[in-house]
Amino acid sequence: HGMAKATGEAGKGKFVGVIGDSTFLHGGVHPLMDIGYNKSYATIILLDNRTTGMTGSQEHPGTGYTIRGEKTHKVDLVQLAHAIGIESVRKVNPWNVEETEKVLREEIEKDVPSLIITEGPCILRQREFKKYNKPLEVDSSKCIGCKSCVNLGCPAISYQPVEGDMALTADGKKRKGIAHIEATLCPGCHLCYQVCKFGGIQSGEGTPMLGFEVT
Ligand code: SF4
Ligand code: SF4
Repeated sequence: HGMAKATGEAGKGKFVGVIGDSTFLHGGVHPLMDIGYNKSYATIILLDNRTTGMTGSQEHPGTGYTIRGEKTHKVDLVQLAHAIGIESVRKVNPWNVEETEKVLREEIEKDVPSLIITEGPCILRQREFKKYNKPLEVDSSKCIGCKSCVNLGCPAISYQPVEGDMALTADGKKRKGIAHIEATLCPGCHLCYQVCKFGGIQSGEGTPMLGFEVT
């Protein structure tokens, strides 16, 4: 916010802040209110994983459960943002790469402050999911070893060097290695499926799911 005010017109479209849902509710509401009140133009991305991930999955006022695990009301993040003066508030499915990139571009372009809420519960919070998806698989005949999926940082994906006959795809492209998905670690978010441009990852679902059905 301070940098946006200091740089004026030249800084437009350049200031993006990222904050988790628990930190936002503990210490991010006031700064966001200041951004709106002082007519700044930063874009804030609120990573709503419905838990306090950094300290061990404690409840917070956005989860709908008290610290003792009793059900309680849940702070509505959209209404809260509107109440403190942020008009432009969007929710996105962060497992949908195309949609997320589109919303990011649109909001960053705006001359007003905006809040993007990514609705992606922590994968370990089973109560937030209607179900997990089937694990995905690498098609070793198509993977060219470009590492786009590996670079996502997903713990289920590894890269394995190959040589000899394995150093060629089925249609004759050279490769130095291939990706591998460890099925027991993959809940099927389909992020890797979307970033692979070579058809090297197969969905386990009839219709590929971009993310999950959440509660
Ligand atoms: S599966 Fe696709 S994205 Fe991953 S390394 Fe192979 S070609 Fe690249
Ligand atoms: S579908 Fe998601 S969890 Fe599974 S390997 Fe791909 S990126 Fe990882």
